[in-house]
Parts: sequence; C-alpha cells; structure tokens
Amino acid sequence: MSTATVIGGGPAGLVAAEELARAGVTVTVYDRMPSPARKLLLAGHGGLNITHSEPREPFVARYGAAADRLAPMLGVFGPQDLRDWCAGLGEPTFVGSSGRVFPRSFRATPLVRAWLARLADLGVRIERRHRWVGWTGRPGGLRFADAGGADVEVVSDAAVFALGGASWPRLGSDGGWIDPFSERGVAVAPMRPANVGVRVGWTGTFADRFEGTPVKHVTLTVRGAGRSVRGDAMVTRSGLEGGPVYALGAAIRDALDAEGRSVLEVDLRPDATVEQLTARLEDRRRPKDSGSTWLRRAISLDPVGVALVRESAGGALPRDAAEAAALVKAVPVVVTATMPIERAISSAGGIGWAEVDESLMLRRLPGTFVAGEMLDWEAPTGGYLLQASFSTGVVAGRGAAAWLAGSVRD
Ligand SMILES: Cc1cc2nc3c(=O)[nH]c(=O)nc-3n(C[C@H](O)[C@H](O)[C@H](O)COP(=O)(O)OP(=O)(O)OC[C@H]3O[C@@H](n4cnc5c(N)ncnc54)[C@H](O)[C@@H]3O)c2cc1C
Repeated sequence: MSTATVIGGGPAGLVAAEELARAGVTVTVYDRMPSPARKLLLAGHGGLNITHSEPREPFVARYGAAADRLAPMLGVFGPQDLRDWCAGLGEPTFVGSSGRVFPRSFRATPLVRAWLARLADLGVRIERRHRWVGWTGRPGGLRFADAGGADVEVVSDAAVFALGGASWPRLGSDGGWIDPFSERGVAVAPMRPANVGVRVGWTGTFADRFEGTPVKHVTLTVRGAGRSVRGDAMVTRSGLEGGPVYALGAAIRDALDAEGRSVLEVDLRPDATVEQLTARLEDRRRPKDSGSTWLRRAISLDPVGVALVRESAGGALPRDAAEAAALVKAVPVVVTATMPIERAISSAGGIGWAEVDESLMLRRLPGTFVAGEMLDWEAPTGGYLLQASFSTGVVAGRGAAAWLAGSVRD
C-alpha cells in the first residue's frame, strides 16, 4: 500500500489527508503544534464563516490575480461541496443575511471534533509537535524536529505540504517553510499581511474618544487606485480595521510601496451626491449652530463622522456648505502602514503558480504537492479563505492519490 505524508494539520492539510485515506493510501499528518487546526478553531470564535453563497462568477473574481488558477479547483470542490461536507459531519450550514455561510453551531469546535474522529476512523494518524525542517538526502525523505528537538526522518511515497501562510504565527503557521523551499529552487512571492488593519496617525483626542467605534455605511476609496468598497469600518487606537479596509488591502499595499503612504477617502454619505449634501447644508443652517450641530442636524452625521471631518480639516470644521459637502464625500485619511503580519487574518504571497501543475504538484519536485495559504493567492474575508484552503486541499489530496496510483502502475 502506498504511503503519504501530509505536513500541516490545518483545513488544507486535513482535507488532503481525508482524500488520500479515502483513496486507500496510508496517511500520516504531521503538525508542529500540540493540536491540529488551531487557526480554524480560532476562526470559529467570532462565527465560522466557512464559505459564501454568491454566484460562481463574482465568487471566483474574489481571488483577483489567482482567479484563473483557482477556478477549476473551485469547480472540483466548490461552496456547495463544502456545505455538504459540513452537513456530513453533523453541522448543516445556513446563509446569513450578508450571503456568508456558517455552520449551524456558528463555531468550529463541533466540526473539528467530528472531523478528527472521522479521520481516525479512516486510519489517518496525526503526529503532533513535529516541526518539518527540510528534506533528507533519501528519495521521499522528510526531516522533522520532534518536541524535544531530536531529528526524525520520515520516508513516504508522496508528500502534501499545507503549512499555511505567515499570519498569526502563534497558531502554528509562521512561514518557516519559505527558506527550505526557496533553497530547492521553488519561487515564493514574499509574504505580506492581508485582511489587516491599517495605521493612521489619529490625534490623541480622536483616538481616546472613538477607539472601538464603528464608522457605519461608508464607502472607502484608495486615492489614485480607483478601488472602492462599501461597508462598516472600525476605529482602532492606531488606525482603521474592518471589511472594507481589508478588501482594499492590495491597493493600499501598492500605494504604500510606491509612495510610502496611501490616502483612503471615506465617503460618509455614499447615497447622496455632493450637490444634494450642499443643498441640505445650505437649507438647514441655523446661525447659532456650532459646526458639529450643523453637520449632525442637516445631513445626520454621527459623532464619529463629524470627528473624522474635523481630524482631516486640521481641527476646525468648514463653514462653507459646498466645502463641507465635498469633505463629507471624501474625508482623506492618511494611512502610513498596514498592521504587521502577526495581526493579519491571512497573508498574500506564497508559492508561485508557475511552480505547480493543475494537480498542485511541484513541477521541480515530482510527488510533492502543496495546498492552502502556502500558495500565492489572497482573498477578502467572507468565507473565501477557507473555501480556497479546502478546494486546494482536495485537489492536492486527489492529485497525490492519482500520482501514487500512476507511479505504482508504472
Ligand atoms: C483570527 C482569524 C479568523 C479567521 N476567520 C476566517 C473566517 O471566518 N473565514 C475564512 O474563510 N477564513 C478565516 N480565517 C483564515 C483561515 O483560517 C485560513 O485561511 C486557513 O486556516 C488556512 O488554512 P491552511 O490549511 O492553508 O493553513 P493553516 O490553517 O494555517 O494550517 C497550517 C498548519 O501547518 C502547521 N505548520 C506550519 N509550519 C509547520 C512546520 N514547519 N511543521 C509542521 N507543521 C507546520 C501549523 O501548525 C498549522 O496547523 C481566519 C484567520 C484568522 C487568523
């Protein structure tokens, strides 16, 4: 019977192991942490958004530059397959109001528990506290350091690597695989924070008062990039977080790379035009009103909106209606950096697509497959990260099983 080693016990690795075991391969999963799937479990803390219910075309487009390569894999194991798989583990899913898909319990724990039991039934062994550190000289030889730091050699007929990206390293994925892969000639695009907050130099007064306050129903635009996203942002002590900020991450990073800063324009009233706002501000001005009362009464700006306008205007609110309206439609917020990768939900960068074939086998290392966030793709939050991790895991697992079947025949 052929043997396979899966390195990395996150969603991509575990689903690859499941596919291999179903194909009759003897599988062992190695993970450096004391227990597998820690990031998946953490993802479940705020509600496990496992995939999204939107139609295929916009869904695939979420993967940007990697969409063409991921599209066939989403065809092999797509959102409905993932939902069926969850249901098979006793966790039927439901579609939330935003179109996001969640397991019934909303959490990852019941799913992971049922999944590990199923994998055990399929004969998958999981070796914990084994950190992969490189290859040995032997064909199929993999080198691990065990909990005590001792060298362990594992030899198998095929290997699937699913070591994750480089965000939240305390959960296990620290990008430590990049050097050994690069040394074998595998091209790896640098890991960058994705789905991450940005740094803004708020005044102390603003940060003290509005830290943790949502800025609701706004449209954010990266100046010069023409990319806009609507949603709710969140003020943090040192910047901004939230779905629209994450979704603009790649454009923000590009501007930071090119100019050392990026300007986010916050449209606080996306449903009104500058002309409509100007007219309302002119009509509803009362001589005794302060600037903030005027903005609040005339165009319903909430306190955080008023304060954002004040921050960007250097402390004083404009008194001219047209000027105020223009500012409300595009409050400039200067971003000086993204938060570090340790605080990012995911990472961009990874193994280049030219390095793998359609089954996710490394062209220069036959019998070695890669899956999940190790590959060079990124996507916004919304369930797209887990979906691509599962889809690539299934493709790599099936690919490895097919390759093993072929090599045994040969
Ligand atoms: C706070 C948070 C919330 C999230 N919420 C969501 C969400 O709701 N929806 C969504 O779609 N996505 C979410 N994500 C992202 C999602 O969890 C990841 O995209 C996904 O887990 C990636 O799967 P993976 O299998 O590629 O990697 P990982 O889950 O990172 O697994 C990689 C595994 O490899 C192991 N490993 C790493 N290096 C080694 C080594 N050298 N030797 C041995 N083992 C090693 C690690 O210990 C880990 O177990 C969230 C992420 C975070 C941080």
